[in-house]
Amino acid sequence: MSDQQIATRIPGRFAVIGEVIAHSQSPQIHTAFAQQFDRSIEYVRLQADADAFAATLHKFFAEGGHGANITLPFKQEAYALCTERSAEAEQAQAVNTIWRTSDWHGANTDGGGFSKDLRANLQVKIHDRTALIIGAGGATRGVLGSLLELRPAQITIANRTLARADELAADFSHLGSIKTLRLDALASFSDAPFDLIIQASSAGHQGALPELAKRLCTATTLCYDLNYGSAAQPFLDWAHSTEAELISDGLGMLVEQAALSFRLWLGLEPATQAVIAKLRGAP
Ligand code: NDP
Repeated sequence: MSDQQIATRIPGRFAVIGEVIAHSQSPQIHTAFAQQFDRSIEYVRLQADADAFAATLHKFFAEGGHGANITLPFKQEAYALCTERSAEAEQAQAVNTIWRTSDWHGANTDGGGFSKDLRANLQVKIHDRTALIIGAGGATRGVLGSLLELRPAQITIANRTLARADELAADFSHLGSIKTLRLDALASFSDAPFDLIIQASSAGHQGALPELAKRLCTATTLCYDLNYGSAAQPFLDWAHSTEAELISDGLGMLVEQAALSFRLWLGLEPATQAVIAKLRGAP
């Protein structure tokens, strides 16, 4: 029996597990998805301290859990724990979606969610265009493969710790052309502007943003922050101070990655745009 067939038969007890998850929007998102199919699911937030991820996960499944989303800082630990992993999880070396059969199944839907948000919601073309990614942590590793699949002309990764950017470039350069830069080079950047700028660092959680030259972008550049809420604000403020007209936070990515998890667990494909609009405060 395939993973998809097994996932389709299961009922509905789900959780998101992370260290700081009080404000996670995943319960609202998955409940809204389930309502589209007249299903009722239970989706809870499970806080786990740094050393308690595995115990929390095992307890949830032992008590009848059917699927779990994994968030910071446990995606790598989840990857290590899974015995069957999707190609995307292997590429990202991180897992954000888990379900169980006799195996622990791990998938990573972050990259697919990001790519879907760019293509379907923002209708941006990446093919043959240039992209700058700020940050070289787990989030960049998670989206890089999906971004390269869209065949950009070149990706430049800029990071405070250059060695982390170089390591990503080495791991992914068989999929496309990747350059690296020290983060502080962006302050006095004088090369050609980028078609797409992706802010994928966690600096916004400290209310910070690396210094960025305005000439990094033009009016047609998409400025995209993987974060949402207050963590995205410093970059969004900077983007609004430039001539860029297409500016987005990562809320669409959050909903799209959730939709991919929902599909893996339940075999159902929820509509996402109304859920994104509702989270943005639409009536
Ligand atoms: P990591 O901890 O793995 O990496 C953090 C990155 O941010 C590193 O590149 C780090 O640089 C950089 N950084 C941290 N502080 C600063 C600073 N003050 N100035 C410059 N650079 C800084 O985190 P992740 O990659 O997993 O996550 C990054 C962000 O993406 C998070 O805010 C997370 O919430 C968000 N995210 C959003 C998702 C969505 O669904 N929309 C999904 C996944 C993540 P260095 O290497 O030098 O330390």
